[in-house]
Amino acid sequence: QSRDPHQPEFMQAVREVMTSLWPFIEKNPQYADHGLLERLVEPERAIQFRISWVDDRGQVQVNRGFRIQHNNAIGPFKGGMRFHPSVNLSILKFLAFEQTFKNALTTLPMGGGKGGSDFDPKGKSDGEVMRFCQALIVELYRHLGPDTDVPAGDIGVGAREVGFMAGMMKKLSNSAASVFTGKDLCFGGSLIRPEATGYGTVYFAQEMLARKGLSFDGMTVSVSGSGNVAQYAIEKCLDLGAKVVTVSDSQGCVVDMDGFTREKLAALMHVKNVQRGRLVDYAKEHGLLFEEGKRPWHVPVDIALPCATQNELDGKDAEILIKNGVRCVAEGANMPSTLDAVDAFIHAKILYAPGKASNAGGVAVSGLEMSQNAQRLNWTREQVDAKLHSIMRDIHENCVNYGQENDFINYVNGANIAGFVKVASAMRHQGVY
Ligand code: NDP
Repeated sequence: QSRDPHQPEFMQAVREVMTSLWPFIEKNPQYADHGLLERLVEPERAIQFRISWVDDRGQVQVNRGFRIQHNNAIGPFKGGMRFHPSVNLSILKFLAFEQTFKNALTTLPMGGGKGGSDFDPKGKSDGEVMRFCQALIVELYRHLGPDTDVPAGDIGVGAREVGFMAGMMKKLSNSAASVFTGKDLCFGGSLIRPEATGYGTVYFAQEMLARKGLSFDGMTVSVSGSGNVAQYAIEKCLDLGAKVVTVSDSQGCVVDMDGFTREKLAALMHVKNVQRGRLVDYAKEHGLLFEEGKRPWHVPVDIALPCATQNELDGKDAEILIKNGVRCVAEGANMPSTLDAVDAFIHAKILYAPGKASNAGGVAVSGLEMSQNAQRLNWTREQVDAKLHSIMRDIHENCVNYGQENDFINYVNGANIAGFVKVASAMRHQGVY
């Protein structure tokens, strides 16, 4: 870690995983042989490049692009692209590191990667977004391929952006191979992929609650974020009879103690996905108070689902949630809880699921999209949803097996050790390279 003191998010993620692994490695020292841990924390390749494009006013804009190819011991590098002004090497390295364990947990043959740019799609025209995506792929295409590296969406990258990037990829590679997942249905996308991360997070929480004889029915839930993951987490909570009382974005949060209805969710989706508007617009439309600059964790709930971004729930937020009687926290976002918050949840013996386990549904269905593309077949909505559900149950079971501590399941240790064992075994079999 002394190599990267200026990469706080990456160091945070590595510290969390290594803290979990240490007692396991002391008992199973063969997993630290041949520099395995040192190799595991170093990305195989980190690519950084210039993206020059022309905006609608004819001005040249320059952004920075990245792709971190972290580990391909069990399959091609796989992980989303993030477009957000906050994107930097530290954030993408943490995401690629986490992705490696998450992908291993899905049991599908996918390695870990992540990429993105400091480009902000907010307020840009479709033409500008297209030109930017094309300029990005002009550089990145040489590093991608269906058996090499398969990107997908993440914050700021949805079906529109994936479409523009996949189109340019086809043009440059002279191949129709599907090198992205999260594609629109009309050119090789999978049903349930847009829903997968949100639904999967709720399926995982459902399994955690069921072990305690609890369910979502009648529970009050806070969700953060209002993008892809948040929207479908809300939808699944409604299916299961829960009341969702919050959403947020980077400017603030909305608290609606009457709870979301299907109509309100449809209106939120319209504002965010069609109008590409802000949460404050949705709040105005429904006469709801927009709490500027606030996060939703002060609201008393039974279940909290952080679905926005990294480090959006700190130690103080965790203490408030615990004081207010929260029973279960399942992360839809990647590393939304700070290390202090995680410690607080575990200390209070709250049911707490780290993102690498509970949000693995998105990449799992991306893996299913790759299988459908390879077979040139399309599975039905029911088939994909059933597979997603079964994968989330298996991930939960795996976390329980490795995370059992007397009467408590430490899902952090469970997820880290289960993912590590899979990746480390594959690395050991393939020698030092
Ligand atoms: P979207 O871009 O669709 O939505 C992101 C949401 O998070 C928006 O509401 C956004 O608000 C909010 N947000 C972004 N940055 C911040 C910030 N600094 N503070 C507060 N809120 C913020 O992305 P997704 O829903 O796809 O992704 C959400 C999280 O889930 C990310 O951590 C992502 O890595 C993770 N994830 C996503 C998967 C997927 O399949 N999409 C798979 C697995 C994990 P605003 O509009 O104001 O920016």
